[in-house]
Amino acid sequence: MKVDLNTDMLRQCGSCNYCRDFCPMYKELGSELDSPGGKIRALRAYREKMRKPPQELLERLYCADCRRCETICPAGVPVTTLWHDAKANLLRTGGTRTEGLTKVLDWLKQEGTPFVGFEAEERTVWAEDLELPPESNTAIFSGCMGSFWYPDQPEMVVDMMKKLKINVGYVPSEVCCGLMNYWAGDDEGFDAILQKNYEMFKKAGVDHIITGCGGCFGTLAEHYPHRIKDFDIQIHHTVEVQADMVNNGVLTFKGKEGSYTFHDSCHLGRALGIYQPPRDIITAIPGLEFVELPNNKENSNCCGGFVSVIDPELSESIGQKRVAEAVELGVDGFITTCISCFKNLSYCARDTDLEVIQLDELILDLAQSSLVE
Ligand code: SF4
Ligand code: SF4
Repeated sequence: MKVDLNTDMLRQCGSCNYCRDFCPMYKELGSELDSPGGKIRALRAYREKMRKPPQELLERLYCADCRRCETICPAGVPVTTLWHDAKANLLRTGGTRTEGLTKVLDWLKQEGTPFVGFEAEERTVWAEDLELPPESNTAIFSGCMGSFWYPDQPEMVVDMMKKLKINVGYVPSEVCCGLMNYWAGDDEGFDAILQKNYEMFKKAGVDHIITGCGGCFGTLAEHYPHRIKDFDIQIHHTVEVQADMVNNGVLTFKGKEGSYTFHDSCHLGRALGIYQPPRDIITAIPGLEFVELPNNKENSNCCGGFVSVIDPELSESIGQKRVAEAVELGVDGFITTCISCFKNLSYCARDTDLEVIQLDELILDLAQSSLVE
């Protein structure tokens, strides 16, 4: 069966290989087929000449999803869109997923989360004592990482919103945002998930969603509007709401000593351009010395978190390099706005003196304002 890859996107690449040395997968693995340009050349050859779907090529398309290649590509190739379309196409024409990824997607379909071992009914435990209304104009999207791994995180978001006098509800029938399905090229699963979430939110009267997860935010804000006709829910990351409050003078902070740097999440930063809000917040904390990493904003290096789905050791190796950048800077701590980045960076920093901290936690500890009780 002929594979229908987007020829324009493939032709757009000038094979300059400029992206290669920025790609975390290539930097770790070193083979041409792990570089963005190499994969594009292989896809071109496949489209033009080959008959059988190349299983190896399909597997190499499962990368860190960091978008570094897209940001620096002089030809503007939308690389990760190309990867998604190619994966979906190769899977439709005879390619197969690895056993591990198939297990993750099967579990997701059954339990509404990619975290194998966690069951659907455990998702809402974090909210049990919070008495959040199930129908509300503004709802928190706790996501899988928040619901299952770090239940303190959505609770912190709720606490913060209460302190800022923003009424927030929680629709307990939420399922995974679908990022894993999109990344895996599982269009059928992705469309089923986003329809389910969208219908559930509409039924509950939600027109604003707040999330503290960079991955959920990226998926809801970037992909849902493209795939759901007349999508009419506003998606906010907590950092945007909090930065507005800081910039309006509503939210101020107690002082904190120490030097801190900031890690830009790929899904918040390169995907959606949210660079300034966390910096506005961090630099408003009296006494805190903020030091930028040499690789920051659009040049930020990935934490490698997503790679853990296919290769935990590779994920750790990428994450340790990011941690080493902060250690070399000589700071006391590493702040991040994404709970997935927090998970990988804190694991990779376990043998260092570096404190890895979520911005939501820092804000909740230090917040003071006329609105805060
Ligand atoms: S994707 Fe962009 S940077 Fe990479 S080889 Fe192609 S044109 Fe060059
Ligand atoms: S998105 Fe990141 S990991 Fe994937 S090919 Fe581009 S630079 Fe490499």
